[in-house]
Amino acid sequence: MEITFLGTGVAIPEKGRVQSGLLVRLEDKPLLVDCGSGVLSRFPDAGVSHTEVDTVLLSHLHLDHVADLLPLIKANWLRGKTDMRVYGPEGTDDWFSKVIGAYGYILDEVDVDVIEVYPGKEFTLEGFDCEITCVTASHSVPTLAYRVTAEDGEFVYSGDTEPCRNIMDLAIESDLLIHECSFPPGTKVTNHTTPSTLAEMLENYNKEIGSICLTHFYPEMKGHGKEAIHRLKDYVDGEVILAEDLMKLEL
Ligand SMILES: [Zn+2]
Ligand SMILES: [Zn+2]
Repeated sequence: MEITFLGTGVAIPEKGRVQSGLLVRLEDKPLLVDCGSGVLSRFPDAGVSHTEVDTVLLSHLHLDHVADLLPLIKANWLRGKTDMRVYGPEGTDDWFSKVIGAYGYILDEVDVDVIEVYPGKEFTLEGFDCEITCVTASHSVPTLAYRVTAEDGEFVYSGDTEPCRNIMDLAIESDLLIHECSFPPGTKVTNHTTPSTLAEMLENYNKEIGSICLTHFYPEMKGHGKEAIHRLKDYVDGEVILAEDLMKLEL
């Protein structure tokens, strides 16, 4: 399994980081997880054709996680690929109908299935050899964290969240926890994570989690990477990694 970080940023623009998106290559087929603004433009940089993507998993519907979904569907349609499956939390169907409803000329041309999934649900993705489990994250809108289990590895993606037991429990004995880390240590913030709040949570999990990769950085996190690694390294079995746009991890 190969994970490419297409975007590791947030709603505030920062040089070198676009908004959230992960491309997970399971066997030959890529699964896109979140699709914020800028993610579509990362496909050529990553050496992948956007037309390979027909399955998208959304953590939640904030713009920095979904803004490029319609542009992706349009780009695929312009290149003759019209089918797409979108998995997301409650509200995804209604949101998608409204957004694509504003573009009737696309709506009539594409075949998009929206599948809402619920916390605790285990499901498979059509055309992929993997299992997915999801739990509720702790964010300001319905948000799901996902565990993806395939033959060659398992990882958890937190979406946007405060550190919470749901997600840590989901990540036990996984190879990798991809966790948001929006702000620097000591920042007082709700709905998001800092290295300090993540360290406090990880104290309850004595190296039960493999490696952690931090992503979803506000510009305020710039210059705090080493400090973040230092705060977290003793709590995980593997490494603490700081995600960069176009970085690849192999499981
Ligand atoms: Zn969010
Ligand atoms: Zn976000």
